[in-house]
Amino acid sequence: MAKLKIYTFPDAVLAKKAIPIERVGKDYFKLADNMLETMYDAPGIGLAANQVGILERIIVVDTEYEVTDPEDLKPGDPVPAGEVVNGQIISGKNPLILINPEIVFREGKSSMKEACLSVPDYTAEVQRSEIIKVRYQNIDGLTKTLDAEGLLAVCLQHEMDHLEGTLFIDRLSQLKKEFAKKKLIKARKLEEGS
Ligand code: ZN
Repeated sequence: MAKLKIYTFPDAVLAKKAIPIERVGKDYFKLADNMLETMYDAPGIGLAANQVGILERIIVVDTEYEVTDPEDLKPGDPVPAGEVVNGQIISGKNPLILINPEIVFREGKSSMKEACLSVPDYTAEVQRSEIIKVRYQNIDGLTKTLDAEGLLAVCLQHEMDHLEGTLFIDRLSQLKKEFAKKKLIKARKLEEGS
């Protein structure tokens, strides 16, 4: 496995639409593995191929794992079983890999504070569908459906937006969006200048 570079706003690749994957071959096992490693390492709960510079319709999500810093454990606390990444223990993993995902049913509205590995140091409340049904292909190329609500529904909609070239900040009101983009571009310039 290998960690991939995460592209950040305003990189052009994040605003491009990803193309459907016609045949799910072996190459995608490796890509999915690398995307998962990159996501856990960040850490994040979802990653779309656009974010690692690949314009193909594949996303990975895991809204269930927990990160524990061993230094935060008190004497006598049980040590969670899991793997150690960057000195942190990652437990309760439930990775999902979705190829060519599409929403075939949606119901209700909910809003949640969102963040994105491609939009560092920025969070905002975004309104999305409350309940969704997603049709996708798994890593073996089989068509599956997944019913989601709560955090998983939000995460899936966020990642599927990436495949369309849409960031969560694009879903804010015009004023908030302009403000966010200016702030992010300024922060990025400062970072590159340092
Ligand atoms: Zn994102």
